[in-house]
Amino acid sequence: MKFAVRLFVALLLPALAHSQTPILEYKLGMSKPWTHLLEVELTIKSVPSSPAALDFVLPIWRTGRYVVFDFAGGVQEFSAIDGSGTPFRWAKTDKSTWRVEKGRATGVTIRYKVYANEFEQRTRGLNDEHAFVDGCAVFMFLPKYRNLPLTLTVAPYGDWHVTTGLDALPGEKFVFRAPNYDVLVDSPLEIGNQKDFEFEAEGKKHVLSIFGPGNYEPDKMMADISKIVKINKEFWGELPYERYVFMLHLGLDGGGATEHLNSTIMQTGPFGFKNPNSYRGFLGLVSHEYFHTWNVKQLRPKGILPYDYTKENYVKELWIAEGTTSYYNGVLMFRAGFNPAHGVYDWVANTVYQDRLRPGNRVQSATEASFDSWVKGRGTQQSYNSEADIYGKGATVSLVLDLEIRQRSNNKSSLDDVMRTLYKRFPLSGHGYTVDDLQSIAEQLAGSSLKKFFEEYVHGASPIDWERSLGYAGLLLQARDGERMPWLGMQTTERENRTRVTSVLAGSPAYDAGVDIGDEVVALNGLRVRTGDLQDRLADYKPGDKVRLTLFRRDRLREFDITLRLQDVPPYWVSRVEQPTPLQKSIFESWLKTTW
Ligand SMILES: [Zn+2]
Repeated sequence: MKFAVRLFVALLLPALAHSQTPILEYKLGMSKPWTHLLEVELTIKSVPSSPAALDFVLPIWRTGRYVVFDFAGGVQEFSAIDGSGTPFRWAKTDKSTWRVEKGRATGVTIRYKVYANEFEQRTRGLNDEHAFVDGCAVFMFLPKYRNLPLTLTVAPYGDWHVTTGLDALPGEKFVFRAPNYDVLVDSPLEIGNQKDFEFEAEGKKHVLSIFGPGNYEPDKMMADISKIVKINKEFWGELPYERYVFMLHLGLDGGGATEHLNSTIMQTGPFGFKNPNSYRGFLGLVSHEYFHTWNVKQLRPKGILPYDYTKENYVKELWIAEGTTSYYNGVLMFRAGFNPAHGVYDWVANTVYQDRLRPGNRVQSATEASFDSWVKGRGTQQSYNSEADIYGKGATVSLVLDLEIRQRSNNKSSLDDVMRTLYKRFPLSGHGYTVDDLQSIAEQLAGSSLKKFFEEYVHGASPIDWERSLGYAGLLLQARDGERMPWLGMQTTERENRTRVTSVLAGSPAYDAGVDIGDEVVALNGLRVRTGDLQDRLADYKPGDKVRLTLFRRDRLREFDITLRLQDVPPYWVSRVEQPTPLQKSIFESWLKTTW
């Protein structure tokens, strides 16, 4: 018996050793930043001796942007070794997977370089001034061990420092930890001589980290960002983090931003901080990204929880993730007092105009636009003419849904309550929400069925009945018909002293007459015409008049006779009704947190 026990223990021991939790250690170097090459090392220890091969995978997309990037194309000089430096054989099994034949070894270190020169995509960038790393574009993972805790050691170039939402190990500046790969890659790193301003808001630590010179005023920015933090805390009820980092790249090329778990990376011009309009635009960007901290980083659609980094993640809810966020980044700018209350009329009038002008809004639904974001939504003429966009359409649907719920519930409930209920009911640890969940919560709060609303506006592409919806808040929508101008329905721009057609609106006079994107406009009725005076020239004519447009198409002179008509969509005028009902007044006031 004793012998048998000993034998059993002897057999068990190696198995126990192998069942240890593997240890994952990432290292990131950048010894020659001017080459744009990031140096990556990943060591995994205490893996079982079997199976004999380990797969290392690089994502094909990054969170926050629903397109395939194929990051693997930037990988070079891949190698794999054991603890004593002996190389393993490896081979790629698909474009983004490296299979290492480790045999019975229990530890593997892989090394590779990543060409990083795409700052404007907010994926990966390295030059002699700084580095930016979204982990999806740089760090490989082992699918089987994706949920294990890990460490990341950064070796910055020269005197650079690291700013990130990741937690540093106690007493360390360059060693970070993450509970799993998802947190690692959802915590981008800024490495350079960026200026970090720390502040407290609503009892939590925040960092404003700015790369690049500009005319910014950090104290004012921190005070204004604190107001955005406060208004969001009031909205959602809590801040789902201990520390949050607002990263900012100031540069003349490109703009845009990406949301992350407890940070955001925003890119904007360096000199827009003193001009009140530009600064308001910047705060709007902050408002949008920060709202995402809840809507899409915590409260996630079912199709992206968890993220699958190896292929497209199809979801019908991106119009909520992006569009509802766009709607609220506007609303909260009013509630926080950054936008003057009277600005609401222009905001609504412009929203209606843009919605009615875009032909794609009558072709594609909000859910279709969400599902197809992997292959559509590229901001082309085709997008405008035949697609809705998850931002614009999502925001307009959110606006009318908000007013609908307020109206039906006698202003006892709103879309604010729907979002809060979703947030509580679908935590990050769960399985994510669907558009049907949104609908059923909205119906409970509205007190009646929204089947028709969702069929028409969410799953369908019916035109929005703006007059009715705005009326709920006591707003009156009037077409400024007298300002309708004779119209071609195309846009042009000046490039190298030539006037180029940049878009032609589907169904417009120019579209029906055969004008094409890329055409070089030369003359209108025999006289040269430029972008700047096109509208003035058209004002000389009446609807029904024919004009002759002369243009070069692929260097051949062409002429088109176009019959003018008045603009299809007039400019709008929004005002308040003279004598609001108590309900209209209360909806307007609670919607924008203002007085009638
Ligand atoms: Zn967004």
